[in-house]
Order: sequence, then structure tokens, then C-alpha cells
Amino acid sequence: MAVSENFLDQLKKVVGPKGWSTDAAGLEPHIIETRGLWRGNCDMVVRPSSTDEVAKVMTLCHEAGVRVVPQGGNTGLTGAGVPQGGIVLSLSRMNKILDVDPVNYTLTAQAGCVLAAVQEAAKEHGRLFPLSLGAEGSCQIGGNLSTNAGGVQVLRYGNARDLVLGLEVVMPDGRIWDGLRALRKDNTGYALKHLFIGAEGTLGVITAAVLKLFPWPERRETAFVALPDAICALQLFQKFSENCGDALTAFEYLNAESVDIAIDHGAGVRPPFTEKYSAYTLIELSGAGAALRDALERVLEGALEDGIALDAVIAESGQQAVDLWRIREAVPEVQPSCGASIKHDVSVPVSKVPEFLELAQSAVEAEMPGIRVVAFGHLGDGNIHFNLSQPPDMDADAFLDQWNHFNRIVHDIVNGLGGSFSAEHGIGQLKVDEMKRYKGSPELELMKALKDAFDPKGIMNPGKVL
Ligand SMILES: Cc1cc2nc3c(=O)[nH]c(=O)nc-3n(C[C@H](O)[C@H](O)[C@H](O)COP(=O)(O)OP(=O)(O)OC[C@H]3O[C@@H](n4cnc5c(N)ncnc54)[C@H](O)[C@@H]3O)c2cc1C
Repeated sequence: MAVSENFLDQLKKVVGPKGWSTDAAGLEPHIIETRGLWRGNCDMVVRPSSTDEVAKVMTLCHEAGVRVVPQGGNTGLTGAGVPQGGIVLSLSRMNKILDVDPVNYTLTAQAGCVLAAVQEAAKEHGRLFPLSLGAEGSCQIGGNLSTNAGGVQVLRYGNARDLVLGLEVVMPDGRIWDGLRALRKDNTGYALKHLFIGAEGTLGVITAAVLKLFPWPERRETAFVALPDAICALQLFQKFSENCGDALTAFEYLNAESVDIAIDHGAGVRPPFTEKYSAYTLIELSGAGAALRDALERVLEGALEDGIALDAVIAESGQQAVDLWRIREAVPEVQPSCGASIKHDVSVPVSKVPEFLELAQSAVEAEMPGIRVVAFGHLGDGNIHFNLSQPPDMDADAFLDQWNHFNRIVHDIVNGLGGSFSAEHGIGQLKVDEMKRYKGSPELELMKALKDAFDPKGIMNPGKVL
């Protein structure tokens, strides 16, 4: 149902002339999913410039029962930010770093700060904000927290959830919860902040956050390693964990198909080896002192002697490290060059990653000969992006018609191994049916009860998550 002109006029008064759009060009970037998988609709995009304005917008929407979708950079991969009527509440004008306290190792930012700007502000004070992912130049901290984003350094620093000390949130009825506490210890009842983190905009609007910082790592050592298979990748991971502890910042897995497509289609991707191998890992150690390099070389030498590793390249410069990371980053970017793809963002206990890869690959290849498995991701977190590219001679739409069928095969295997059907991208609208299938009672009822308590009128991002 369209929102009345009278109601839109009230919103315009709250946010002023720079704070809204209703024309098609202004709405367009906010109603689509960037890969073109979903297209929604809304009557207005409002861009408040302060928490008070967000509160006034929410009060009006609550009274009128108008749907609200909070939006950051709109880079999410599950259609969570795509509106289905009502208004989009964009945080993009609330993009100030409010405070950096290098002694307390905290940074306070408004929700609309772009992730890369938060990283940069921390770096200016000799500190690290470790959340790092491919969309960091456009996603916003509010979106990162609302999706509990993961990325490439979870192994050492945790998910977005682990990087938050305090939050400021505007509730669906317009009340402001000021939980912007910069405390490492605060045992005062329910940890409300954790309910909003990962809620994908269904419980309230995050307007600011106190984030944890870390010492800026003096050195980084990066290596790209060829291996016989995923079992050896897991063994290598164990060796690095045992020998390097917290210095192990990233341990990424890539199957042969991933590296092949990155080399064939990725701009600026250089082949790491002259030969092709069955499996690869990208490893990063970070911290202080020359001991890091010694540890890297020592573990790799042992792995080469034992036959766990077949070949290895160690970056000798910052640029070489960037080049090695480029191979990993190119994989999701170049997948469209291989035709349609069906994606799975799954996790299993780290010890079960090779078993999952073997079971899932055999199952999908048996189901559709010619299908190509592009499996890559954060092995150190047990999180694999298990993506399927269409057989080369198949019609793309016919392949995509099999999306649910392949999801069932892969997610059932994941479930059987005690894993999760959504490791880091969330639920959005993509996985609402999977929630119903794999989350039993009372988990779903408890989530529904929370939703009803926080948002009794059901105006916050309806149709998502639950
Ligand atoms: C190239 C690329 C690489 C990626 N790599 C990774 C990766 O390695 N790991 C990973 O976890 N994810 C990855 N992602 C997905 C990632 O989670 C999202 O890109 C990011 O965290 C979402 O931030 P955003 O600002 O774009 O949020 P949006 O897409 O705008 O919104 C996402 C959800 O959060 C809600 N939301 C946004 N802002 C707020 C707010 N202030 N208050 C309440 N709710 C809000 C929205 O309603 C929506 O439900 C990648 C995406 C891309 C495009």
C-alpha cells in the first residue's frame, strides 16, 4: 500500500530538503540488490543527519504503521536491505567518527561511516580496526554490525559481534537506547547490544557504535601454498595454529577451480605457480618482530618435507602480498564470467571441512554432471563459500531453476555435520525458508517473541529473517 503524501510531507519536515528523495533516480540505488537478484519498491528514501532525526522518523512511522528498512551501503548478499514498500532509512549522512581513544583502544562512530573510513581513522592513531571484507569501500559500519559481518580476519579478531563494546539504537517506536559504553567489563543484565547485532534491521536502527581497536601490526607475512587436497590444508592449518598462535591472522582455502577462474578472468591476477595443483591456501601472519618470518618459513619447510604442501610462494614485499591477496579477492568477482552460479555460505566445525568438501562435491557432481564447484573461503573459521557454476553448455535460467534443489543437497550435508546454512552473510529474504527448515523449536519461537517485544507493529524490515 502506498504511503500518503501527507505522511511523506511530515517526514520531509523532519529531515529537511537534503534528507529525502522520492524521484525514480533517487530511489533506484536503494531498491535493487547490486547483483540484480532482487528488486523492491519504496515511496521515499529518508536520510536523517542525526540520531534525533532518526528517532522522529521512527516515531512517525510507528504511529502510522509504515514499514521501514534501514540501509547502509546496500552491499548485503541476501536481499536483506531491499525494501518491500514503505520507506528506506539510509544512514549515509550519519558518517562522523565521534571519538578515537587510543589508550582505551576504542573508536566511536556513527552508523553511516564507511568501513574503510573507520579502518583509516584507527590507523591514523596507530591502531587497527580489524574487520575487513571485499565491500569495505562502500559498506557501512551499521550494516556490518546488523549483518554480523565476518571477513578475512575472523580467525584472529572474531566476527563484527566480537568487535563491539557499545551501541546506540533507535527503537521501532522512536525511543533512543543510549548504550554507547566503552567498557570491556559490564555485567549488568541482558547483553542487549547482541540482539541488534546480526538482526538485519528487524529490531531497531543502529545509529552509533563503540568499536574495539587493536595494536597496529608492525609486520605482515603472507604466503600462497599449493597442496594435494583439503585434508592437507587442514593439517597445515593445525601446524600454523600450534606454532604461531594468535599471529595467525588469516587462513583461506581455494580449490583448483577457484584459482583457475581467478587467473583466467581476474584483472591483475598473476598465476602464483607455473604448475596447477588441486588445492591452495593463502596464509597471513601478523604481529611484531622478525620471528614471524622465521615461524612462517619453519612451518612451511616442515610441511614441504612431509608432503603436506607441494609448493609455496612467500611475499617479499607489500606489493607481492597484495598480488597474492588479489587471487583470493578475485574469485567471487569473476564468478559471473563462468555463467550462472548457485551459492552457499556455510560453516562446519573446522575439523570437518575436508569431509564436507568431499561429501558436497560428490553429491552435486552426481546430481548434475558438468557442474563446476568453486569452493573457497575462510577455512580457519570452518566457513566455506561453496559455489556452483553452471555446466558450460547449459541454459543459465534452467540452471538457476535448480537453486533450491542444490541448496537442499548442500544444506542437508552441512546440517548433518552440525554446521550452519548461513555462516556470515545472514538470512535476509534469501534464507527465510531455510530458517524454518533448520531452526527447530523453541529457537524460532524465542526469536519471534523477541521480534514482537521490540517491534509489536512489525514495521522493521518485514519479510526478512523470520
Ligand atoms: C564484494 C563483497 C564482499 C563481501 N565479503 C564479505 C565477507 O567477506 N564477509 C561477510 O560477512 N560479508 C561479506 N559481504 C557481505 C557483507 O555482509 C555486507 O556487504 C556488509 O556487512 C553489509 O553492510 P552494508 O552497509 O552494505 O549493509 P546493507 O546491505 O545496506 O544492509 C544489510 C542489512 O543490515 C541492515 N542495516 C543496515 N544498516 C543498518 C543500521 N544502521 N541499523 C539497523 N539495520 C541496518 C539492513 O536493513 C539489512 O538488513 C560482502 C559483500 C560484497 C559485495
